[in-house]
Amino acid sequence: MTRIIGVLAGKGGVGKTTLVSNLAAALAELGEEVIAIDANLTTPNLGLHLGMHLSPVTLHDVLRGDSRLADAIYPHPAGFKIVPSSLRVSDLYEVDVGKLPEITFSLIGKADYVILDCAPSLGREAVSAASAVDEVLIITNPELPAVTDALKTIKIVKETNAKIIGVVVNRVKRRKYELEKEKIEDMLGFPVIAEIPEDKNIPKAIAAKQPVVIFSPYSPASIAIKRLAAYIAGKPFKPPPKSITANLISKLVGWVLS
Ligand code: ADP
Ligand code: MG
Repeated sequence: MTRIIGVLAGKGGVGKTTLVSNLAAALAELGEEVIAIDANLTTPNLGLHLGMHLSPVTLHDVLRGDSRLADAIYPHPAGFKIVPSSLRVSDLYEVDVGKLPEITFSLIGKADYVILDCAPSLGREAVSAASAVDEVLIITNPELPAVTDALKTIKIVKETNAKIIGVVVNRVKRRKYELEKEKIEDMLGFPVIAEIPEDKNIPKAIAAKQPVVIFSPYSPASIAIKRLAAYIAGKPFKPPPKSITANLISKLVGWVLS
């Protein structure tokens, strides 16, 4: 069975593309076949995150009816496939977004997961993204404007047939001013299924054009994303073994606190 999952947010810059590229890589590591689609047609950057921005055939060509979808699917070294979008401003024209559901549903049977990096969207754009998927992951930051916009997106998704899997809170710094998990769950009415910490390895991985789960597999963000991938796939999550130093520190802390 192919699961078609859209990563949606109301606000831009909250971490959609980072989540899509890393979830694709983490699911591939679990042995799943994954196709990641850059469905953010106006400001696409999945290809940039993954070093595949120069691909000759893009989703824009397919939506315009100039190319076959099969020619826009590229293998990534991390073990999943990607359908990139075009970075050219001229490609924004004559693109039929209404064809997106047709495209995603044509991939049924071709992978275990089809994951869409959607445009930050409210209104009609969110509806078209949600109609192209069966399941939705809502992503937000632990800040009021981002959560408020996430709520609007959730209200729109609820009008479609897509099922909301849960909320991912990204860039968690555990500062006093941040909204806590329980507060976010109260506001949104859905469980927070992952908290991805603020992690400097993420911008470093993006600069290296690699998913952070490959670039820095034991970094805190990588571990959170791998745990989320295992949760989604219904597979057990095995945390990486702690280093000798980390073990010693946690023993010392335990001893001081006891
Ligand atoms: P979106 O696709 O929602 O616009 P991106 O995934 O492109 O957001 O992320 C926006 C920026 O935030 C990226 O340039 C990345 O460096 C940074 N970022 C995302 N998640 C984290 C994180 N957990 N820790 C640190 N920086 C992050
Ligand atoms: Mg993006």
